[in-house]
Amino acid sequence: MANKGTIGVTTENIFPVIKKFLYSDHEIFLRELVANAVDATQKMKALASSGDFKGELGDLSVRIELDSEAKTLKIVDRGIGMTEEEVDKYINQIAFSSAGEFLEKYKDQISNIIGHFGLGFYSAFMVADKVTVDTLSWKEGAKAVRWSCDGSPEYEISDSDKTDRGTVITLYIAEDEKEFAEKGRIQTLLDKYCRFMPVPVIFGKEQEWKDGKYADTDRDNVINKIEPLWTKKPSEIKPEEYMEFYKALYPMQEEPLFYIHLNVDYPFHLTGILYFPKIKDRMELTRNKIQLYCNQMFVTDSVENIVPDFLTLLHGVIDSPDIPLNVSRSYLQSDANVKKISGYITRKVADRLEEIFKNEREALEKKWDNLKLFIEYGMLSDEKFCDRAMKFCLLKNTDGKYFSMDDYRKAIEGEQTDKDKKVVYLYATDAVAQYPYVEAAKKKGYDVLLMDCQLDAHFVNLLETKIENSRFARVDSDSIDNLVQKEERIRPELGEQDRSDLEVIFKSVLPSENNYYVTAENLGENASPILITQSEFMRRYRDMSSLGGGMNFYSEMPESYNITVNMQNPLIMKVMGAKAEAFAGKDIADPVKELPSDATEDQKKEAQARKDEAVEARNSELKDFASGNEILKQVTDLALLANGMLKGKDLSDFIGRSEKVVADAYLK
Ligand code: ADP
Repeated sequence: MANKGTIGVTTENIFPVIKKFLYSDHEIFLRELVANAVDATQKMKALASSGDFKGELGDLSVRIELDSEAKTLKIVDRGIGMTEEEVDKYINQIAFSSAGEFLEKYKDQISNIIGHFGLGFYSAFMVADKVTVDTLSWKEGAKAVRWSCDGSPEYEISDSDKTDRGTVITLYIAEDEKEFAEKGRIQTLLDKYCRFMPVPVIFGKEQEWKDGKYADTDRDNVINKIEPLWTKKPSEIKPEEYMEFYKALYPMQEEPLFYIHLNVDYPFHLTGILYFPKIKDRMELTRNKIQLYCNQMFVTDSVENIVPDFLTLLHGVIDSPDIPLNVSRSYLQSDANVKKISGYITRKVADRLEEIFKNEREALEKKWDNLKLFIEYGMLSDEKFCDRAMKFCLLKNTDGKYFSMDDYRKAIEGEQTDKDKKVVYLYATDAVAQYPYVEAAKKKGYDVLLMDCQLDAHFVNLLETKIENSRFARVDSDSIDNLVQKEERIRPELGEQDRSDLEVIFKSVLPSENNYYVTAENLGENASPILITQSEFMRRYRDMSSLGGGMNFYSEMPESYNITVNMQNPLIMKVMGAKAEAFAGKDIADPVKELPSDATEDQKKEAQARKDEAVEARNSELKDFASGNEILKQVTDLALLANGMLKGKDLSDFIGRSEKVVADAYLK
């Protein structure tokens, strides 16, 4: 007895629609069919536990059977099955109003919609040109039915010879979808979508290497061997189990730093486990590591619109039936439920970090260097998280000691408050390269932070706005006394001529590709003769723009340095003395100043020309003086060397001169 009919969809022909819009995601058919099989099995279990079903449940595994030769794929379950009326109701009369319109609107989201749209079963036609359903309901006296359809809107219902309770879906894989008749492909898909489904899913047998080839063993190849740990109560899970679960999820990844177990019932349902991975480098930032599940069924691993951007750096799983999957991605961000979920996860992450800060301080310090990039990124990108993080964020100093924000302030407040009542946070970005400056600061009794993380240029800026009355300064951005100015500094008194001479002399012995601002300071006779520094402001903006942030203007400017000449240093005093002697009585007259008040334009021009000429002559004499002054050359080269700026011929000349100096000092 064969029964023919037309599938009750309002759209003319559903199959072209399915094929067209689901094109890129054909693979999800398997997830949909296995999910249906799992549902039917769960319902069977429920009937047994409620007492409505009193027979033997037997083996409830869902089996996937592939015949690569015949190109058939079977999904076999021992669930509730369907009676003929049910087949008619669920498979034939799918409520499918305005399906075409809906699909058109949400084609990007289609792979997620499909299950929620009662289209699950029909997704089989994306890969098969014929589908049969053999099913026997659990109900007493039910008759086995076979439904079959070759992709046209016509189906056939006939008797089935099925004797076992449950359903077998058989797909006859289409010629252009051959890949789905390959064992490897099916295994991969099952691993991706069905790893955590709540009923055993079995695909053939486990294999073993035997007599030069792989052969089936008699053990079932169970896809969902690993327990979905997030469904258990946190109190029943040991820390090792969290780590093992991570290894199972990401076998190639290093052990994570910490984990968080998420578990909420109200106002939405969400469970999950998130892990903080080790991040040492910006290059290592990997997204798409969080897997989103819906009742243990894998949905997607791109969660950008569900969690705040910085949290996409975390790894792990989130399982929620309340994330609306049937809407477009951009809509997702404005969805109230998604906003709540996103806020909840951010809060949980902050809670957990605060708890670690309070109870596992030692572990936090040990792991901080690998956690820091994540926290800084979070603080920079999420204001709420930032305010929470000010409590558990650590600062590390150049001695490798860690402080909380509050403790650090207390530690430095006494010594490092300047005359304007600002607490100066000194930092180095490279403790080796900036060693002399770090030492100079320490000698003063100051502490120096280490800010060597890629985001620190931005982070320092952020901290300055978050910490009241604070100023951040890199140790090499000025002389230490200027960085933490305790009182108004008394500058050396220099005449206009001396000031300009000083500038000409030093510029002539420094590498010509940079800009220099030469200033005279009294830093004491024991301090270095010359300091080369780079202004905090310029350098910070330059660093930030090199990290990206649309401030290219700064990175395109030539490097500028401040040259601080210590007028109290004996070597400088000697150089300046020699200069004074060489130029005694040679002060240039200023013909412009000597002009009468009624001088004509021509007279003014002529006087200016004479003045320019005199200045040029003096400058050229100054340059000769500078290049002939060995002390000067030696002390500027030393300052350059301290900053790693002495290179090439200048470096080898310096070494040659120094060897001579040493020989003179020791061999005479
Ligand atoms: P959905 O699962 O979203 O409801 P489907 O098109 O995938 O939509 O399935 C329609 C209905 O067909 C299911 O709700 C279920 O009642 C029935 N069904 C599908 N597959 C099975 C199965 N393997 N066993 C029993 N019933 C099934």
